[in-house]
Amino acid sequence: MAREPSAPEAPVEPYRIKVVEAIALPSRAERERALERAGYNLFNLLSEEVYIDLLTDSGTSAMSDRQWAGMMVGDEAYAGSRNFVHFESTVREITGYPHIVPTHQGRAAEHLLLSQLAGPGDIVPNNMHFDTTRAHVMRVGAKPVDLAIPEAYDTTSRHPFKGNVNIAKLAALLDGPTGRHVPLVLVTVTNNTGGGQPVALGNLREVSKICHAHRVPLYLDMCRWAENAFFVRSRESGQGRRSVREIGREIFDLTDGATMSAKKDGLVNIGGFVATRDPGLAARLKEQLIVYEGFPTYGGLARRDLEAISIGFREATDERYLAHRIGQVRFLAELLDDQGVPFLHPPGGHGIYLDVPRFLPHLPAEQLPGQALVVELYREGGVRTVEVGAIMFEGSDPDSPPPLELVRMAIPRRVYTESHLRYVAEVVGRVWERRASIHGMRMVEAPEHLRHFTARFAPLADGPTAGPVRPTIPRAH
Ligand SMILES: *Cc1c(COP(=O)(O)O)cnc(C)c1O
Repeated sequence: MAREPSAPEAPVEPYRIKVVEAIALPSRAERERALERAGYNLFNLLSEEVYIDLLTDSGTSAMSDRQWAGMMVGDEAYAGSRNFVHFESTVREITGYPHIVPTHQGRAAEHLLLSQLAGPGDIVPNNMHFDTTRAHVMRVGAKPVDLAIPEAYDTTSRHPFKGNVNIAKLAALLDGPTGRHVPLVLVTVTNNTGGGQPVALGNLREVSKICHAHRVPLYLDMCRWAENAFFVRSRESGQGRRSVREIGREIFDLTDGATMSAKKDGLVNIGGFVATRDPGLAARLKEQLIVYEGFPTYGGLARRDLEAISIGFREATDERYLAHRIGQVRFLAELLDDQGVPFLHPPGGHGIYLDVPRFLPHLPAEQLPGQALVVELYREGGVRTVEVGAIMFEGSDPDSPPPLELVRMAIPRRVYTESHLRYVAEVVGRVWERRASIHGMRMVEAPEHLRHFTARFAPLADGPTAGPVRPTIPRAH
């Protein structure tokens, strides 16, 4: 069939489907009841109440047949498992970091690293802290400071590397009177909080030079390092002929270590690690690991999980996989752009971030427009998303710019197809059309830390009504 000349082109999957999981759209009445029961916090929904789940790309990937086969060769020995040997050698081979300490997920790696390196009165710079990183910096009494470039805070800027660190600000901080209170510098690749935006290799080289001139260790939050390397290859001049593995290796070579959530670019459902070049630190991390996570050859994971990470970590560097993954995000962006829906540009590596102030300009910040939008997307079509803004980052320190007000639609890896993405675009489009009738929310219960996970909300007025929604058959082409 003929395709409209301007219709966005969907990337073709570099895999076929071997196992399926049934999903269904609950009725409008069921969705309404679910929202009420959940206190309008979508973290409180049951997965079965969700049709398309874009809450997170973390731990939601589909594993490959090879990874599942790897699970069957789990050597569940408490110490010295062959799966740990495979895991350690894979991560060493790809990153070059000599000391690899497995953890059950990324935040456990953050807990270990930050409690070893940072303490009360310290300042920890990052391009932008992710919520769990921020929480761990604050937990040890240190202050998180975000030093992304100004373009990172402009949702309309098309800067190709909005994850970049503001070099002048970093240099001023390290040269200034409080410079001696900086125990480490973190750089998050890609910058999740800022829209899944990449950091340029050139920027990281400068960060590395400044840190090392000041004898301050540089650590990566490397959750989405392969997606970042893919963007470097496609956007940074002089990088187009290098492989993702080569670019990744240069990124690692510029740094002293990293924390990793394997739930992202490890293509697994659970796992992580902390890596370092410092043997003394590695020994201390392992001591602490035994108290909090487990013996250093399993780190709170089943050994079969380490096998799945060893395989997934390599698969995440497959360039056909990455081209499809980043292509899916771009495809959804094009479908939304065609309808005039405002979102953060350019589209990032792992999702689309709707631009809340431009989506719901009639709702002031205190009416929690981000949460209102998250609720409407679920109400309209059973699509689950998450607010990334004032609710998630409340209590952020006054020296960092105020957070962007975004609603993140994270795309799980290897899970959804073109028609799912078309359906999502259609649901967002319908909410966009009736945006003027959307009411605000208020928070009725809020815990002290990481409150977005457990807060409860209430609508400020009766929610708008719309007709029943059924998934539509995507246009053939
Ligand atoms: C997911 C994530 C973390 C935390 O990892 P978990 O595995 O969820 O504990 C840290 N930093 C970034 C940038 C992340 O995306």
